[in-house]
Amino acid sequence: MNNIKCPYQSLCGSCQLLNDTYQNTLKFKLKYVNESLQKNGIKKSVSTIIPANPNYNYRNKMIIAYKYQNGKIISGFYEENSHHIVNIEECLMNTPLQNQIAKGIKKIFQDLKIKPYDEDKKTGLIRYVLLREAIYTNEVLVVIVTASEIFPGRGEVVKRIRGLSNKIKSIVQNINQRKTSIVLGDKERLLYGKGYITDIFDNLKFNITSKAFYQINTIQTKHLYHEVKRLAAFKGSECIVDAYSGLGTIGLFLASKVKEVYSVENNKQAVNMAIVNAKINNIKNINFVCDDATNYLVNLSLTKTKVDTVIMDPPRSGSTIAFLNAIKQIKPSKVIYVSCDPETLARDLKYLKENYMIENIECVDMFCWTKHIETIVLLKKITKN
Ligand code: SAH
Repeated sequence: MNNIKCPYQSLCGSCQLLNDTYQNTLKFKLKYVNESLQKNGIKKSVSTIIPANPNYNYRNKMIIAYKYQNGKIISGFYEENSHHIVNIEECLMNTPLQNQIAKGIKKIFQDLKIKPYDEDKKTGLIRYVLLREAIYTNEVLVVIVTASEIFPGRGEVVKRIRGLSNKIKSIVQNINQRKTSIVLGDKERLLYGKGYITDIFDNLKFNITSKAFYQINTIQTKHLYHEVKRLAAFKGSECIVDAYSGLGTIGLFLASKVKEVYSVENNKQAVNMAIVNAKINNIKNINFVCDDATNYLVNLSLTKTKVDTVIMDPPRSGSTIAFLNAIKQIKPSKVIYVSCDPETLARDLKYLKENYMIENIECVDMFCWTKHIETIVLLKKITKN
C-alpha cells in the first residue's frame, strides 16, 4: 500500500515514516530491531512482522493540548521535542469518531469561553483533553485535564460534550497542577458515567480507565496476545508471572490456558481495575499485586514458589538488572519478553544470555508509520550439565 498523505506531517513529526510505502516501513522496523540485537552481541535475528490492517485510524487514544492565541483556541499535538502546539483539525491515525469528538469539544470550549491554561501567565483552565475509545465497542471516555479543581461552567460543558455522541459513556475531570509536561494529575472527579469504558475482544471484557496503561492499537494488541499465547505453548499446568501487567490484559488473556497467574503492576488504578476485569470475566486463577515489578520478583525469588513462565512487558526504559537477576534465581523454563523498545530489549536480553537461549523473535506493527515497534521474544532456559 502506498504512503498516506498527512497535511501536518512536517510540523507534527509523530509519524516519522510517512514518506515511505507501508512495506518499507515494516522493513525499516525489522532492520532496527536486528541492528539493536547485533549491537548487543545477540546473533539471533527476526524476519517476520505482523502488519496492521488498517494501518491508519488505529489509535484508541488521543491527547489534545490547547493554547489561546489571537482570540482563538489552538488545539492539537506538540511538535516533536517541543512545547509548541501544531493546530490539528484531525489525525489520520485516530478514528473518525475521536476526531469528530475532539472538534466538538474545541467548539464547546470556544462557545462557552472556557480558556486553555497558560503556563507562563498561570491563567486559564484547560490543559489537555484525553480521549480513549474502546475500539471493538466504540465506547468513549473523555478526560478533561484542568489546572485547578474549580471548573466554572462544568455542568454546561458536560451536557454539551454528552450531546456530541451517544458513544461517550463517561467524562472525568483530572486535576493536574504540576509544572511538568506529564499529562495527567493524581486527583480525579467523575463528571458523568462510571469513570471507565469497556472493550471486548476474544470474549473477554476489559474495563479501561483514564490513568491505566492500555495498548494504543487494539486490533494489533489482539494479534500480539495471540502471538504470546502461541509462543508460550502452555500445557495447562503452568504457574506464570505477568509482570508490568497494566489492566491485567495479558494474564486475563492467558488464564484459561494455565493453572495460576501472578500479575504485578505499580499503577494502583490499573491494579484496581484489573481485579474488576478478572471478576467481570469470571476468571479466578489470577492474582494481582500492586508493587514495583523488581521488588515483587526479588521477593518471589526468596520464596520457594515454582514459576514456569515469566511474561514481562516493561515500559520503554526496559527492566532492571535486579529483575533479571531474580529471573535467574527463580529459573522459569520460559521467559517471554514483550517490548516496545528494541534498544532496551537488546540490553536486557544480553544480560540473560548466559542462562537463557533465544528461541523465537516476532514483531508486531502496533505503531504504524512511526519508527516504534513491538517485539516479542521467547527465551528458554539453558540446561547446564
Ligand atoms: N502488559 C500490559 C501493560 C504494558 S505497559 C498491556 O499489555 O497492556 C507497561 C506497564 O508497566 C504499565 O502499565 C506501567 O504502569 C507499568 N510499570 C512501569 N514501571 C513499573 C514498575 N517499576 N513496576 C511495575 N509496573 C510498572
